[in-house]
Amino acid sequence: MPIGAQYTQVAAHLAEVCRACGRDPKDVKLIAVSKTVEAPRVQEAIDAGAHVFGENRPDQIMEKHALYPNEEWHFIGNVQSRRIKDIVPCAALIHSIYEEHHLARIEHAAEACGKVQDILIEVNVSGEESKGGAAPAEVLGLLRATEAFDHVRVRGFMTMAPQGDLDVAERCFSDLRELRDRMRAEWDCADADHLSELSMGMSEDWERAVAQGATMVRIGRAIFSEDFA
Ligand SMILES: *Cc1c(COP(=O)(O)O)cnc(C)c1O
Repeated sequence: MPIGAQYTQVAAHLAEVCRACGRDPKDVKLIAVSKTVEAPRVQEAIDAGAHVFGENRPDQIMEKHALYPNEEWHFIGNVQSRRIKDIVPCAALIHSIYEEHHLARIEHAAEACGKVQDILIEVNVSGEESKGGAAPAEVLGLLRATEAFDHVRVRGFMTMAPQGDLDVAERCFSDLRELRDRMRAEWDCADADHLSELSMGMSEDWERAVAQGATMVRIGRAIFSEDFA
């Protein structure tokens, strides 16, 4: 199926799943993860109605943001200190922050381009060693560390579930939501009210994530791959 048709199908399915679990489809943002395709293919998704895209490499978000500056670009990849200055001007939201020393760099880059940078804290809920993200016990400390920076605003949390067992994935998503609820109660800061976003769910497990309260799903292969079943 062409990319446009796949996007349309995923968007319709997402709306259906939202309604089935009593949620308003407007409350779940579909992020089309275009990291595996060349820039011109992004247009096919735009033509089908996609306006929010995810990228995991600085060079790719820069190139695609330059080509499609009116779309919303999210950075979902591993963050390296020296590339923060490249990512910040392009990214409406950075999903993958979990190292405290990155905050000052983001502050500096955001101030330089006159914006407040929205971020999510990536949490390694499952504890898999291969995965990035803060341990749940580190999250409150990270939230407190952000209070020092006027140009950094935490909007919520992101996680990646282990692949292969949907029940395990769903537990990981509900754990992230519970952590968010706990942080809202424990973080003694006005910004705690703004911890509204839960970025969770990918091509294989997004239905479970929506059932557990995801406000953003990051879908790549189901939209951009020709052979995702
Ligand atoms: C690639 C990627 C996705 C999309 O994964 P698919 O399985 O292709 O839907 C989502 N989130 C992150 C962080 C990714 O790197």
